[in-house]
Amino acid sequence: MLCNCRIVSLIIVLLLSSIKSDEFSDYENTLLNNEDTRYDNIPNQNSNQHGKCISHNLENEAIEERGMIMKEAQTSFIPYCRHENLANNGQDLKFDPLLSDLKKRNRRMADVINALHFESMHTLTPDQIRSSQANIMKRYMDTTVNPCNDFYSYACGNWAKHNSIPSDKIAYDTFEILRESLDKALKDLLSDEKEERKKIKRNKRTHDKRLRRHEKNAEMKAKNLFQSCMNYDQIEKRNIEPLKELLESLGGWPLLDKNWDEKNFDWLELVANLRRFNNDILIMQYVGADIHNSNLNVIQFDQTTLGLPTRDYFLKTVNEKYLNSYRNFITQTINLLGVEHFEAKDRADEIIEFETNLAKIMSAQEDRTNISELYHNITLAELSKEIPGIDWIRYLTIVQERVVDSNEVVIMFAKHYMQELVKLIDNTEPANVANYLVWRFVRHRINNLDNRFLEVKQKFYQECFGREKSPERWKQCISQVNSNMGMAVGALFVRKYFDENSKLDTLTMVRELQISFREILNETDWIDEVTKTTTIKKLDNMSLKIGFPDFIISRHKLDEKYSALHIHPDKYFENTLNVLKYINKEEQKKVGQHVNKTIWQTYPAIVNAFYSRSKNQIMFPAGILQPPFYHRYFPKSINYGGIGVVIGHECTHGFDDKGRLFDKDGNLNKVWSDYSIKQFREKAKCLIKQFNKYTLTEIGQSIDGETTQGENIADGGGLNQAYRAYTRWLNNQRDPKVLEHEVFPELNLTSKQLFFLNFGQVWCGEIREEANKNKMKTAVHSPGRFRVIGALSNFDEFSKEFNCPIGSPMNPQNKCKVW
Ligand SMILES: [Zn+2]
Repeated sequence: MLCNCRIVSLIIVLLLSSIKSDEFSDYENTLLNNEDTRYDNIPNQNSNQHGKCISHNLENEAIEERGMIMKEAQTSFIPYCRHENLANNGQDLKFDPLLSDLKKRNRRMADVINALHFESMHTLTPDQIRSSQANIMKRYMDTTVNPCNDFYSYACGNWAKHNSIPSDKIAYDTFEILRESLDKALKDLLSDEKEERKKIKRNKRTHDKRLRRHEKNAEMKAKNLFQSCMNYDQIEKRNIEPLKELLESLGGWPLLDKNWDEKNFDWLELVANLRRFNNDILIMQYVGADIHNSNLNVIQFDQTTLGLPTRDYFLKTVNEKYLNSYRNFITQTINLLGVEHFEAKDRADEIIEFETNLAKIMSAQEDRTNISELYHNITLAELSKEIPGIDWIRYLTIVQERVVDSNEVVIMFAKHYMQELVKLIDNTEPANVANYLVWRFVRHRINNLDNRFLEVKQKFYQECFGREKSPERWKQCISQVNSNMGMAVGALFVRKYFDENSKLDTLTMVRELQISFREILNETDWIDEVTKTTTIKKLDNMSLKIGFPDFIISRHKLDEKYSALHIHPDKYFENTLNVLKYINKEEQKKVGQHVNKTIWQTYPAIVNAFYSRSKNQIMFPAGILQPPFYHRYFPKSINYGGIGVVIGHECTHGFDDKGRLFDKDGNLNKVWSDYSIKQFREKAKCLIKQFNKYTLTEIGQSIDGETTQGENIADGGGLNQAYRAYTRWLNNQRDPKVLEHEVFPELNLTSKQLFFLNFGQVWCGEIREEANKNKMKTAVHSPGRFRVIGALSNFDEFSKEFNCPIGSPMNPQNKCKVW
């Protein structure tokens, strides 16, 4: 779903769903509604996305429309939707010619020239690991740049000489390199199912028993899903047959079916049936925590999302280029399915016309800031009276696959939209409504068809994001399996690669960082004592998830989780449908259940980190506990400048412009005094102004300091906490051997300078111009360059360590700091 935006509103929804408020006084309501919370801007619930939703959806078709992860309200360290998945692919890392000799001499070492990879890490000695990391860091630096003028260019100036954006990616950076390495490791883990089968065949006596166990085994299911995706001959042989069968079961697609009869068309039934495949089109429906009772899961409704990221793509002429690409995408897809070109063009125009009308009846994000106005807690009987054009009970009976009672309470966030939707449908030809609905579904289904369809999609990506070619098939398959069976993939991954030390070290660092935060709070003079106390309580109450959930280690529990999911080794198309239905069922059955706040919402093999506002919880999946963020043999300076800063960043989200509105239990609750709120805003205003001044000259756009403030606050806080924790550790260190290991002989830098260098190099990377333009329209994260320059130029200790004269670009007279 390319440029999809459903995620944007979904996020809002999620966010809403994660918010709980107790009884608000009028004052508090005013505060929350008008000044303080711009929920639409809350970066994410699940992803920070806005910005990247574009790429996300775009890229990660696998998490179709709404994956499990989507449900959770959380902020991420990097845009969640990013190049993840889509991206991965590519060619091998580029080595420069000078290195070819080294490559021949020592393949193993050559592998680590641009990054430390999973396989190599397991074969290198501690000294080799350290010296590899030192050499990688050295290669990316441009020492001709004065670190006091532009630390990003100093740290990353040579990065592009050694890495170029692979043609199948829209961006390339440290995270992408780590993902590539992770993908390769996952590919090996998911490819060994053939051996397993042979073993079963060999032993006839135990054959049947083992086969049965084999079929129930969650990890085998993940391997079979991967195999079915990789079996391209079979996919090509089956052609569009599975899609045709599916469309028939949904009542046909008028543009393909001459016999389609509008008398048999029931739009609500089709919408509900598509929801069962985890696609919510026209009506967004989900099950999540009630904002007024964060412990209870309830059914909630909101306005739709669209086939492009925001309604502006349909309504503003400045975006016409993207709308035309979308139109071509539709035309060519329909054409491939057998509709003659000119006719396909007409159908595409009708689909776009209907979607543009939908965009018109949707509310803009900036008009959705008042939660009290949007939130309606209502019984189905009452809802049916208010919006009689939609048979809510019938819809839910299909989606939930149970008898639904008219006394059941649901939450509606888009009453006006639903009323307008009924009118729009009444005024549209039924065939056009049906063509639109099925298109939105088919758009994703073509991912499960042959290359002709993938090429059409690639063309669309190229026009929208500049991606030059599709990722290799195996990369797409890894992405698909990891997104849809992430816990099973995670189990395979952690069993082979997870270093228990990383869990213990991360735990220690979290404690140290929290000590730093308390220290900072004690020194803070701009909030009053009462607010300080509640802030400390929230910090103490923050829960922590590191690596992976324990249940995945138990084969029995893991098999149980996926017991309702059926996977056939040769039927990729049907497997995907099964996954979608499984995801929907898992969600729908939560209705009426207690919200499980201890459950893991992220998969283990993911390169990112998260903070959940509704749970007051920080999460560090196993995938990020790797170089350059962490390695047990790295100097502490590198680990604190890497994963240490990430930890501090996530903790700080609990106290950024949105996080501070939630209490220690994750409920929306005013716990700050008016005085402290006022002071906080002053501090934040300084950062907003600072980031507003940063311009991306390549595309002539400025950063939105307001939208990115939460992330910028978190970056500053994370840096401060991690640096303090590192300095404390260093000051207590007396062992000369340990101290000797704190620096790299390859680099003429102090250990504290190394801390800053790793902090900076985490953000080395490049993005294609088209992708950058689209991303900037909605981004909540500042581009990497400015995350580095912005945070370090506010940090006195940085200037001290690099002797930056006051008034130099990295050491301005006026600095902005919240935490
Ligand atoms: Zn963040």
